[in-house]
Amino acid sequence: MKKLFTIFGNPVSHSKSPLMHNLSFKGLNYNGCYTRYRLEDGAELRNRLFELNIAGANITVPHKEEAFKACDELDEFAQKVGAVNTIINKNGKLYGYNTDAPGFLKAISEFKNIKEVLFLGAGGTAQSTSIVLRDAGYKVTLLNRSANRLERYKKEGFETYTFESFEDKKKFDLVVNMTSAGLEDDSLPCPIEILEAVIPKAKACVDVIYGKETPFLKFAKKHNRPTKDGSDMLLYQGVIAFEYFTNHQFSFEEIKKYMQKAFIL
Ligand code: NDP
Repeated sequence: MKKLFTIFGNPVSHSKSPLMHNLSFKGLNYNGCYTRYRLEDGAELRNRLFELNIAGANITVPHKEEAFKACDELDEFAQKVGAVNTIINKNGKLYGYNTDAPGFLKAISEFKNIKEVLFLGAGGTAQSTSIVLRDAGYKVTLLNRSANRLERYKKEGFETYTFESFEDKKKFDLVVNMTSAGLEDDSLPCPIEILEAVIPKAKACVDVIYGKETPFLKFAKKHNRPTKDGSDMLLYQGVIAFEYFTNHQFSFEEIKKYMQKAFIL
């Protein structure tokens, strides 16, 4: 019987996930089908999953914390970060994972000799990725527009700054735009003076926004820094989710081979 998978989010119509996963199902001859579901109330997630007999799901903005709450079992990393973007329904029990952060870690692995990382932004994506990076041996500093979002990072022992308190005393190897600045507008993630201080010294710059050249990436390119957007992060979180969906019967490279076609279609 065909297994049904979906992505829950709001909005969700722009999501590339159905195309990515369906290309891999088809390429690997797996009897699965992946749809999208606009969910307004995150608290309804668990019921919808069972009603529709969904075998596995991805969860995107703004329901990753509700997804965390909806699960019966959480893997160690999802437990640690408090956000779930992948759920497996195994015999009526929901298992939760976070594949965004390992996807990001893999996406930046092409940049070598990176130790000091500066995150511009401290929202939900920064939360899981800062922890995965720290666990992997990177040193993460966070810079955010508002002070209140930084509180939890401070408690977890991260070095944090607001635009006002930032001190240019360190060389950051990698600078990452973790904000949504540039997604639907033309704004930079922080005052240009801060970018002028950190970017020329950086070995590389990464944006988590994908599919467009943001003002941040334009600025980094102007300074001849190696750059990448969020496409690989999106691809790799999808490959890792697919591994869970299909119970690890295909290798990362096999899945990637088909899934990456979604980025040239
Ligand atoms: P959140 O809403 O949780 O956090 C948004 C962050 O951006 C906050 O730190 C906020 O600062 C900051 N911010 C927003 N607008 C501006 C601005 N104009 N100037 C400065 N700072 C700003 O968002 P998420 O963490 O969920 O998402 C962040 C980005 O990551 C989005 O662009 C999203 O598309 C992308 N993303 C990409 C993925 C991929 O696979 N490539 C996966 C997941 C997310 P403040 O606290 O001051 O409001």
